[in-house]
Amino acid sequence: MLIVSLHSNLQNMTKNVRVRFAPSPTGPLHIGGVRTALFNYLFAKKHQGTFILRIEDTDQNRYVEGAEQYIIDSLNWCGIPFDEGPGKNEKFGPYRQSERKHLYKKYAEQLIASGNAYYAFDTADVLDFHRKDHEEKGKTFIYNWHNRLKLSNSLSLSASETKAKLDAGEDYVIRFKSPQDEILYLKDIIRGDIQIDTNILDDKVLFKSDGMPTYHLANIVDDHLMEISHVIRGEEWLPSLALHYQLYKAFGWQAPEFAHLPLILKPTGSGKLSKRDGDKLGFPVFPLQWEDPKTHDISRGYKEDGYFPEAMINFLAFLGWNPGTEQEIFSLDALISVFDLERVNKSGARFDPEKIKWFNHHYMQKQNDLDLAETFMSEYNQLTDIDVHYVALVVGLVKERATFISDLWDLSFYFFQAPKAYDEKAMQKAFNGETPELMIELVTIIQRVSDFTVANLQTDIKAWITNKNIGFGKVMMPLRLALVGSLQGPDLFEIMFMIGKIETVERIERAIGVL
Ligand code: GLU
Repeated sequence: MLIVSLHSNLQNMTKNVRVRFAPSPTGPLHIGGVRTALFNYLFAKKHQGTFILRIEDTDQNRYVEGAEQYIIDSLNWCGIPFDEGPGKNEKFGPYRQSERKHLYKKYAEQLIASGNAYYAFDTADVLDFHRKDHEEKGKTFIYNWHNRLKLSNSLSLSASETKAKLDAGEDYVIRFKSPQDEILYLKDIIRGDIQIDTNILDDKVLFKSDGMPTYHLANIVDDHLMEISHVIRGEEWLPSLALHYQLYKAFGWQAPEFAHLPLILKPTGSGKLSKRDGDKLGFPVFPLQWEDPKTHDISRGYKEDGYFPEAMINFLAFLGWNPGTEQEIFSLDALISVFDLERVNKSGARFDPEKIKWFNHHYMQKQNDLDLAETFMSEYNQLTDIDVHYVALVVGLVKERATFISDLWDLSFYFFQAPKAYDEKAMQKAFNGETPELMIELVTIIQRVSDFTVANLQTDIKAWITNKNIGFGKVMMPLRLALVGSLQGPDLFEIMFMIGKIETVERIERAIGVL
């Protein structure tokens, strides 16, 4: 066995950091893709590097209308825009592989010329036959040195036979010639050293006669031409690493460094997170809402479900990474300064939809009340005629209990309209025989507060209660019920101040009447 060490010993950190997020526009960007983009972004920004968006759309059969724009919109909403990409700083452009297709053929031919690749003419039927035949014998068919000479390719055919087939326009693919009996030593920043026995590798297709490269060839050529220093991508690409390293070696190019991010697991912790898990448990797996252009089916998005981008980012950062401390709250800037690929885990990261709610609650508290009020008002037409500053004050009083803007109405409607009903249980608890009389007296106390401020209300009402030598609950509970309709809500003196003297008195009198 030949031992081949393929990773570069040159420290790439000394060169410019250039990383890319390279999604294929085959549908809406899954939450795992956003995590990959985020880790690339954090790494780039930490090292004053460049974050590139490259659209890998060589597989035209899987192309989905609108998916590229969705990717861009998602990155923008998350606050992690690309520095270079389609339509932006196109120094290394174009950034769509479909617009680069003229470029790849010469690289495939270069590999043929150097003996690292070959033409193969086997039809799908022939390959299928071999696959089935092997299966029946309990074996797996691998197209590589084991059997390539028994198949139809430029290694088994003579030069003139090959030329004749090419001249006749026969369909072909270009395959990488995977070496026999070698142990490859590869390096991954997250996984450390990896050994691969080349005897298990197949001769992967690099190029097809329709003029299109496969993912492997286009990806390597573009990473090289775009001077990518670090490839940070999902674990599902780890099996391609050996081929990618060998392609760099075959081209004589220095390979970038690689980091494969751990899988994102279902909330139960076993198996990869899928869209179905989200549908089943009622949470989105996409950043933004997506309407399928063909079926018009709608998939929910975190944005439309009321999540703040800060919560999304903070939550995603912890899917596979941790700072090594107890701290959980990180702004994007804080993440940039502490993020480190060495601290990314190898094992899968469990997706916990409750945890992102926890982050959302936290970031809800951080939002500016006026901004929240504006969104709140735009979503509830009951609020259209109300002064935005009043709504902002209300929001400030109740948001502590809110996780989403959509929670605000239930938490605060009584600031805008009198309660229409009283909670039965609370009524039994708060009311007894002496309550009406106490409430009537309370009204006179309230009427007498000339400067209707929180402090004055508090002083006068508390003094009256102390004087009467009765428990606070005897007054405060029925008062709350009268104003709110239940025993919930923030400080009662704040509520009275906000709704004003006339409304306060009216609500107490109405409650006395009803109860
Ligand atoms: N186009 C691949 C994808 O859809 C890119 C994988 C890579 O980053 O190399 O994820």
